[in-house]
Amino acid sequence: MTAAAAGTAPLAGPVETRMVLAKKRVAGRAHLTLTPPPTAMAWMKVGVPHERMAVPEVYLAPGDALVEVEFATVCGSDLHTVSGRRSAPVPVVLGHEQVGRVVALGDGAVHADGSPLRVGERVVWSVMVSCGACDRCLNGVPQKCRTLAKYGHEQVRHGWELCGGFATHVQLRAGTATVVVGESMPREIAAPLSCASATAMAAVAAAAASVRLDGASMLVTGAGLVGLTAAAIATDRGARIVVSDPDPARRAAALRFGAVATADPLAADGSPDSLQAVLSRLGLQDGLAVAIEASGSSPAVAQAIGALDVGGAAILVGSVHPAGRVPLDPESIVRRLVTIRGVHNYTPRHLIDAVAYLERRHCAYPFAELVGATFGLADLDAAIDEAATGRHVRVGITP
Ligand SMILES: [Zn+2]
Ligand SMILES: [Zn+2]
Repeated sequence: MTAAAAGTAPLAGPVETRMVLAKKRVAGRAHLTLTPPPTAMAWMKVGVPHERMAVPEVYLAPGDALVEVEFATVCGSDLHTVSGRRSAPVPVVLGHEQVGRVVALGDGAVHADGSPLRVGERVVWSVMVSCGACDRCLNGVPQKCRTLAKYGHEQVRHGWELCGGFATHVQLRAGTATVVVGESMPREIAAPLSCASATAMAAVAAAAASVRLDGASMLVTGAGLVGLTAAAIATDRGARIVVSDPDPARRAAALRFGAVATADPLAADGSPDSLQAVLSRLGLQDGLAVAIEASGSSPAVAQAIGALDVGGAAILVGSVHPAGRVPLDPESIVRRLVTIRGVHNYTPRHLIDAVAYLERRHCAYPFAELVGATFGLADLDAAIDEAATGRHVRVGITP
């Protein structure tokens, strides 16, 4: 029986899609029957390949939206889950960096700025779903909402199977910050907005809350996507950036993202590539005004805090998996009047600002080159293996 014969009506909309949507209303929710069905890649445990899961029926509650994924990227935290470094409730649909196009809407779905979402819009969305009403949401940390859900992190459950980016579609739930991206922004730049780019914006904002960035010296440890994006943003705000990373290719990349110099954290003390020698050549032997630690390595955390001048601020953003403890000299923190601040994920404001920044500046730095290989969704396991080699800052997935 066709959808029309079942008494449902095709959805109207400007989107050209191969998919047939039929819609009816059940208990206040839009019930979509989709042919061919959306599919998502379910991950179960370390060493077991992803399984393709078909989701022919989707229920959109008020405020929800269904988005067809155009392109996704593999984030470092996906790799941590697949390698077992980080636990996840299973089955899980991984992936939380993606760009897509709205294909269907629940009643009253809105953008992050409160304006109505429209079918056909090209969008990115926050990694988290927040209630907007609890004490944490009201205190400016919606990423720690009391009833938080995160794309690419939740156990698949009936009614929200399309909950991660490694899929043909994602069901955006009410409470997701959704932001339109321009048609001309390359997909390789748009997809990481949902995690790395917005996190980099949050880290730079945290730095700017402590230190005036115009003319400031800044250390960035870790030249992954967060570190490189933070270097570019801070350079555009007038900071002078030194990037530290053990990988020579990443150090070379950093020089194309605004860094005035790079250092090798594995170089022997006093050797020309050591941070000490690099800072001395730049006349920064007293230390730096700010450090953004984006690697998550314990020695890098210690280096970031230790490299600060009086009044400096260390923004820790990379430590999102278990790592060794870092010794802390409290007297040095006190006498240098140092600020240490943790940044985890970001708020809707940072996502909006990151989109605006990359709309304006994505051509100024080689962001699009950071996706070094692209695979089809069916080859997700091969894509993750390739990403795990560390040869690329990002690996892309096309549904
Ligand atoms: Zn991520
Ligand atoms: Zn909340």
